Amino acid sequence: MDLVQPSLGMDPAGVNQVWIRNQGYLPACGLPERATVVSEMSQASPSPATPTSSKKGSTPNTIGLYAVQCGECFKWRLISNEDEYEDIRSKLLEEPFTCSKKPNVSCNDAADIEKDATRTWVIDKPNIPKTPPGFKRKLVLRRDFSKLDAHYVTPTGKKVRSSTEVAKYLEENPDIKGVAVGDFSFTVPKVVEETIPKDVIEKKASARSEKKAKDSKAGDAKAPVPKE
Ligand SMILES: [Zn+2]
Repeated sequence: MDLVQPSLGMDPAGVNQVWIRNQGYLPACGLPERATVVSEMSQASPSPATPTSSKKGSTPNTIGLYAVQCGECFKWRLISNEDEYEDIRSKLLEEPFTCSKKPNVSCNDAADIEKDATRTWVIDKPNIPKTPPGFKRKLVLRRDFSKLDAHYVTPTGKKVRSSTEVAKYLEENPDIKGVAVGDFSFTVPKVVEETIPKDVIEKKASARSEKKAKDSKAGDAKAPVPKE
């Protein structure tokens, strides 16, 4: 509960996506099977996400779960697929989400999922336009968990990474009708720091202290001694 409140403060809309590390294994949550689907993207191939066995050394950090917070009881509800999630997100400010929007669910039911450090959470922004038909919106978490990067895959399989690239693509493909640059958003969710895996933080910290040690060694000779 404590963890949920700060996110409410920052992001009253409270749309969240849940990342599943590695295999996307869900510990006994009693989740519906369809919510556990994790698309894994191998770092090397930009081809459509295909569920593959995780290769050693690579961390395919793609979104594995979608959750939205109820505006009334603040419980987290899982959303079964990306399409539904995008739909809720696209109009969240006008139509706040509540438990009762899920069939046969009310605020009296236990939360579907808890926002804790068993998974890495990323907080999304509300009112991001729904991805136009034929396009696919992709979010990739950087290896050091510092941030996410957004891009779209076009119906012809081209990757576009900015509004300028979208505009150029639409210009070059006039047969794609009813789609405008404004239908694309490169706004990325924010990584919830408390949910970044410990080993990633440790690795980062040790890299930092190594650099510090090096820096201070190099600077030792001529660094003036600070006087009080
Ligand atoms: Zn509720």
